Order: sequence, then C-alpha cells, then structure tokens
Amino acid sequence: MQGSNFKQPTEPAHKIFDWRKRRSWLACIRHYAGHVLTTELRQHLAQERPECWSDNLSWLPDSSYILAEFTGSLTGYYTHFKGFHGCRPMSVSSYYEHGLLGQKSDLLCDLFRQIFSDVPKEDVENVIMRFADRSNSERGAMWLVGSDTFLVEQCGHYLIQGSEYLMALAAHLGRSPSGEDYRFRLRQYGIPTILEVDIPVKLVPGAQQVEVAKMILSEWGQLATRRALPFGDTPPCYVVRQDIPPECVHDHYHPERIIDPHRGHRPYVNALLSCEVCC
Ligand SMILES: [Zn+2]
Repeated sequence: MQGSNFKQPTEPAHKIFDWRKRRSWLACIRHYAGHVLTTELRQHLAQERPECWSDNLSWLPDSSYILAEFTGSLTGYYTHFKGFHGCRPMSVSSYYEHGLLGQKSDLLCDLFRQIFSDVPKEDVENVIMRFADRSNSERGAMWLVGSDTFLVEQCGHYLIQGSEYLMALAAHLGRSPSGEDYRFRLRQYGIPTILEVDIPVKLVPGAQQVEVAKMILSEWGQLATRRALPFGDTPPCYVVRQDIPPECVHDHYHPERIIDPHRGHRPYVNALLSCEVCC
C-alpha cells in the first residue's frame, strides 16, 4: 500500500565547519558558493596572482559584495562551527548536564574564597570587590577556538590554571608572606580539559561569522593563485555570549603535555588523564 513506507521528515543533517579539516572545507566551497567564487574569478586570480590576505580583501573584485554573499552562503550551508574550549573544571560532568553557561562569577568567587581560605578574609574580599564591575561587563562570555592543538600550544594557561577570572583574582591577591605566588595555587584544583563543542551557527556573533568567511576566502584565494602567504595556521576564535546547550558538547579529553605560557613556554606534564566522565 502506498504510504506505508512514509517517513516523517527528519531534521536537516548537521553540517559542521571544522577548521582543522582544511581539505574538506575547501572542497565543499563549490557546493554553496559556486555562484560567487566562479570559474572566471578563479582564472582571473590564477593569472594576476595577488596576495590573498584575509584582513585586506582588495585582491577580490567587488569585495564587499562577494564577502556579504559568501558569508550568507557559508552560514546557510553549515549548521555548526566546531570550537574547542580550554578549562580546568572541578566537574566535567556539569558540562554534559548543563552545557557551557558562560562566566558564573558568583560561583567563581565562592571557589576563590574556598581556595584561599587561609588568606586574611579582608584581602580576599577586597580583591573580589575590585573585580565586581569587570564581572558584570564580561558576564556570559565564552571563548572557543577552532583548533585544539592551538589551545594546547598557545593558550595552555586556561587548561593549567583555569578560568581567566580566577587567575586575575589570584594575581591581584599577590603573594603570601612566605613568597607563594597565589596564581600557582590554582593548579591544585580541577582537571585540565579540552571540550569539543559543535556551536550552532546562530550563536556565533555576526562579526565573527564574517571573520571566518574572510579566512576561508583567503585560503581559497591562496589555492587559486598558488601563492601561499607566509603566516602560520591561526584558527578562528568564537566568543559566544549565550549559553551553549549540553547537546552541543560533542566530546572532551585531558591532554598530557601542555605548553605553559606562564613558565617560559615549557611543557607542563598533566598527570590527570581521566575524569568522572571518561574514566
Ligand atoms: Zn574526562
């Protein structure tokens, strides 16, 4: 009988933009942006061979039109941007239960009081007071980057010492009478963790979507001109100011070696390689 095999329409498949998979996303461009990045344009670039910068698109004819069209097509094609978040949480499972909730400064202040309970209370409260305004302005900002390798090699302090807010509080608390640098005490709490998060494109602010588009255009242009620019692989950065729901947390791990920017970029060896979720 007709209709017996009828299936309910399903959600459109997730299409995830993963900066680490350059070959894959370069190959996909023709599926969504063939109408702006045309064969004629590619031939023109192959002939002229301009330097295809991401922060100066003057190498593209009618660049503002192409950028706007390309950004629209990119964010229409991909449903998620993959981002990595470095942290040193007390509980990894809370990310799977509640998602990424931005900077909860009240909770962080409580944790700060707990960690420094041996320091005179007045000093601890003074530091918290001085940061009250800052916590309001930064509330809810969540920082993710398009490559986990970049996090481990360039931004290891988030994994080694945790929240930048806690680090700033500890730095202002200074040193103990015996000379202990209070920042380093944060290394005794929590577990160095990289969260792999598939961020819904609509949670990524428009200006950052445009930045990603420029970076892809630059890579596409360098391929078309066969003229690679002499700069390393810097991944896109996503600053999300809304809660990211738990179903977006795709995976996590605990890296063994992390470059420590606060100790002369020496490797930090992490002995905590499993948590209550992955053990
Ligand atoms: Zn784990």
